[in-house]
Amino acid sequence: MDIRRPVWAEIDLSALQRNYDRIATLTSSEMMPIVKADAYGHGALQVVQALYEKGARRFGVALLEEAIELRKAFQDIKLVLIGTLPMDSIEMIVKEGIICGVYRLEQAVLLSKEAKKQGKQAVIHLKVDTGMGRIGFREENWEELFDCLKLPNLFVEGIFTHFATADHADLGFAQEQLKKFLELTDKIKTKGAHIPIRHAANSGALLQLPEAHLDLVRPGIILYGLAPSQYIGKDIGLEPVLSWRARISHIKTVPQGETISYGRTFRTAYPTRVATIPLGYADGLRRSLSNRGEVLVKGRRATIIGRVCMDQTLLDVSKIPDVQMEDEVTLLGTDGYDRIDVDEMASWLNTINYEIVCGIAKRVPRVYRK
Ligand SMILES: *Cc1c(COP(=O)(O)O)cnc(C)c1O
Repeated sequence: MDIRRPVWAEIDLSALQRNYDRIATLTSSEMMPIVKADAYGHGALQVVQALYEKGARRFGVALLEEAIELRKAFQDIKLVLIGTLPMDSIEMIVKEGIICGVYRLEQAVLLSKEAKKQGKQAVIHLKVDTGMGRIGFREENWEELFDCLKLPNLFVEGIFTHFATADHADLGFAQEQLKKFLELTDKIKTKGAHIPIRHAANSGALLQLPEAHLDLVRPGIILYGLAPSQYIGKDIGLEPVLSWRARISHIKTVPQGETISYGRTFRTAYPTRVATIPLGYADGLRRSLSNRGEVLVKGRRATIIGRVCMDQTLLDVSKIPDVQMEDEVTLLGTDGYDRIDVDEMASWLNTINYEIVCGIAKRVPRVYRK
């Protein structure tokens, strides 16, 4: 049985592929697309398939679960766990050949032991904290990092760091981070060790800091056609990949002076055409958009009135002629001559575009176009 919800996110895989091609022209380093959080809400399996067709063979994820899901579907790609290393799943990591970011000596020791037990070589990338302050070996732990290089059954394929401000206008701190990172990799070289892949660049650094491209780059948000921050111009030639739409589930006229939705926070100032759409905060349409967010109907703006509910939201469509049941409503994307982009919705909510796309709930079906 095929249930079709009148709410969906459209994912334009050709736009994703064009973004990939475009980004590839900006660097000569290997690209490792970041597909954590279900490819920023776009659907990891489909995104990986589309980028695989473009030649990508190595992908970055945050969770072991994400890596395992992808491993089941794709056997000949490399998967790098760039986030937290789950210490109780070392056996599975080694068995499935997941490459992991290591940021503590005891992790390397455990991986080495487990790999020995399985008669394998575990592949790792060492994570270095040069100023993000999240995970990674800090300068005071560099001796421990050097110890990781001596462990048996362990191949240190890569070493990486992460920028805190590569998407800012002022790149001073990012440059300091890079300097510290290169100081470390030089030190490793003088010790006679060779780590083939050094990497640091997220989307911000990919666009703004070519000297940080090194051997591999880790684009995330730009693949999905979104700018890493407001400091980076929108003219980077990338196309948004995701649109979000719904169909009107009910329409009626409410007389002047009546209230709408929970808490009675909205009162009609005139006889109001009220359209209901069948999605709400359980779908990721944030409740703080109550009485302020906008959507597009027939290419024109309609305001969200009253509180956004869990599964339903109300719109004032009084000024848009001839709105009918089942008409399409655009929450994100283009309709006619107007468009609501992820950045605009993010600005209403005082957040960043990343949080908006990751926040579209799993229960919103993704519809793929090519
Ligand atoms: C999420 C992440 C990226 C990608 O960041 P974008 O800003 O989306 O390009 C790169 N590297 C690491 C370690 C990350 O956690």
